[in-house]
Amino acid sequence: MTRDILIVGAGIVGAAVAWQLARMGHGHRVLVLDRGLPMAGSTSRAAALVTLLRSEPMQIAMAQETLAAIGHFERLMPGSVGHHPVGSLHVVTREQLPAFRAQLDTCSALGIRTQWVDASYARDRAPWLHVPPDADVLHVQDDCYVDAYQLGMAYLQAAQKGGVALQLQTPVTRLDVRERILCGVELSSGECIAASHVVMAAGSWSNLLTTPAGVPLPMAPVRSQYWITAPSLAIPHDSAIVFMPAIKAYARPEVGGLLFGLREAHSAVADARHLPQDLEGFAFDTQDPQGWNNLAQGATALEAYWPGLEHAPIAHYVSGPSNYTIDRQLILGAASTLPGLWVASGCNGSGITFAAGMGRLLAQQLLGSDPPWLDGTHMAPQRFDSFDPYDTAFLSACAAARSGKATG
Ligand SMILES: Cc1cc2nc3c(=O)[nH]c(=O)nc-3n(C[C@H](O)[C@H](O)[C@H](O)COP(=O)(O)OP(=O)(O)OC[C@H]3O[C@@H](n4cnc5c(N)ncnc54)[C@H](O)[C@@H]3O)c2cc1C
Repeated sequence: MTRDILIVGAGIVGAAVAWQLARMGHGHRVLVLDRGLPMAGSTSRAAALVTLLRSEPMQIAMAQETLAAIGHFERLMPGSVGHHPVGSLHVVTREQLPAFRAQLDTCSALGIRTQWVDASYARDRAPWLHVPPDADVLHVQDDCYVDAYQLGMAYLQAAQKGGVALQLQTPVTRLDVRERILCGVELSSGECIAASHVVMAAGSWSNLLTTPAGVPLPMAPVRSQYWITAPSLAIPHDSAIVFMPAIKAYARPEVGGLLFGLREAHSAVADARHLPQDLEGFAFDTQDPQGWNNLAQGATALEAYWPGLEHAPIAHYVSGPSNYTIDRQLILGAASTLPGLWVASGCNGSGITFAAGMGRLLAQQLLGSDPPWLDGTHMAPQRFDSFDPYDTAFLSACAAARSGKATG
């Protein structure tokens, strides 16, 4: 059987695109290729928060699509995607309140369940948390976290059941472009696989394939990082996720301890050409491979919310690349100058949250159906005029996009 849709990358995004194509009855046309094992890129390193509070309706819809997918897999097999429906608490300071309320109006109109709660309710849901006196707390009932590896595998296995083929240990070395026409891909073995559609879902490595084909993608791999404390009785396993936007921090329970992330004032960024295939041991900053300097810089502010930080032994550190774009929009849709090339990337640290929605939108576009909530122009892969995705000023702008982000 000829498969005319190739998906490059079996991370959560490629898997979700494959799943949505299969759900639409086109699984028999799809082949997913990965150079290694599925979910071994950024996906398996994610904190895996799935969060609904966004200012853009389309992003909210994408997150809702992922929540629906999680519900679907949990109903089929409880526990299969590591779903923790713990909800989230957003600790909002008075200065942030007006902007936050505007965002809330958008979210409420789209059916997101929220309520303002008092400090004692918040402490009940997250006993480690101290709510500063000038802050209000918003509870978002349906926010959750999952096991990103398991959710990605659920998409992939469901896609395979729907007819999608998967070929692992198969590096793609080049897009096969002949006389400006995309004919398929070339593998490291030298073999070419013909296809009419190629979906680029190779995460932080996507530019290595699209740029030589004349389609640079406006994104760069920026460091995301978090720490996990040793288990402690002060952190119940069903504690809520907590966002502390004033200090750009978040936390959630993990294996009896607290997993917490702090956004850097100046995020570290990598040149994708130097990113290894195996992220284990890769350090964005060789002077500070475990982010201790960032932790030290943010510790005083974090202690105001979490007085127990000082005595919490840090047991683990995790970092990895998240693709940030300078306008913080996804990269989703068709490459206008190379018909047949589709891109699903540039997730700005939210690929676990958005994957099912990205998959649905891309599948609908590729199949030519009429998506009800599609207005792809602000996500178009070629929305910026000429730029060099490896230029240091461009990399810095992508890093600044992450540093400026409020939460998550
Ligand atoms: C520390 C950290 C915390 C995060 N926390 C969250 C969070 O809480 N919530 C959230 O929503 N998101 C989070 N993210 C972001 C999220 O992990 C990413 O957005 C998401 O995993 C991106 O998925 P992907 O499929 O695009 O990329 P990847 O998972 O990196 O997959 C890309 C795949 O492409 C394959 N590939 C690459 N090049 C080739 C090639 N030439 N040939 C064949 N295959 C190739 C790779 O092997 C890999 O399997 C976090 C990220 C990090 C690093």
